[in-house]
Amino acid sequence: MPHRTLAPSLLLTAVLLLPGLAACGTDAPAPSAPTSKDSETTAADKTDGGDRGTGSTTSASDEAEVDLKGKTIAIDPGHNGGNASHPTEINKQVPDGRGGTKACNTTGTATESDYPEADFTWAVGQRLRDSLEDAGATVVLSRKDNKGVGPCVDERGTFADDADLLVSIHADGAESTSAKGFHVIVADPGADEKTEKASTVLAESIGTSMGKTFTPNRAYGRDAISRRPDLAGLNNASVPAVIVECGEMRNPDEAKLMESKSGQKKYADALFDGIVDWY
Ligand SMILES: [Zn+2]
Repeated sequence: MPHRTLAPSLLLTAVLLLPGLAACGTDAPAPSAPTSKDSETTAADKTDGGDRGTGSTTSASDEAEVDLKGKTIAIDPGHNGGNASHPTEINKQVPDGRGGTKACNTTGTATESDYPEADFTWAVGQRLRDSLEDAGATVVLSRKDNKGVGPCVDERGTFADDADLLVSIHADGAESTSAKGFHVIVADPGADEKTEKASTVLAESIGTSMGKTFTPNRAYGRDAISRRPDLAGLNNASVPAVIVECGEMRNPDEAKLMESKSGQKKYADALFDGIVDWY
């Protein structure tokens, strides 16, 4: 089992339903099939995305010219380094944001050489935070280190309440080593249509930016954007929110990137550019 999740029966169901395509254990197994991007969501929606600037495209190399003063950005580096040694805590049931409950968290996936997803998301999250702060933004992180356990998935949405947007960083762990590429997840249309729309615009901005450096995983739709009702972090967010599955940790090429400092910088730079473009 590639995922080291603590919910083996659920995982087994996911693997059986979804050969070659599996979640990182973001906070639940993937749905029975990857959902395509909603064809009704077009570039025209960009007028509803909130207070963005000129829409000009920047790159991380332009960082010094980007002014994010007054902006507050929430970053959630997925999972936590101590999750595996705290099975009771991470299996605790918490609100799933749709009236039910689900496990507090999972351990996440890992590369073939056992480099954990939590380490990758933490490294990229730190770099991204530094770039955003250098550009003048206020950044809130969902966790303070990579040694502990938690927060639970519900709090990984609510902690962003005072931010403009939430980006949750993950990596996937499909069983097939040939599976490759990133995809971006938004909550499927819930009660708050306006937030859902703005989240889609954020997903498009980040997908476009990621696509300049990385391979989009088209199994999740033409734009590598999928919609899921079961991700508590997204469901519990009151601001535009996305989960970015940066790549496949079992793919040797992407594993190499994810394990290297230079690769981590590329992921952080792409996320930075996507966030700037969203504004
Ligand atoms: Zn994950």
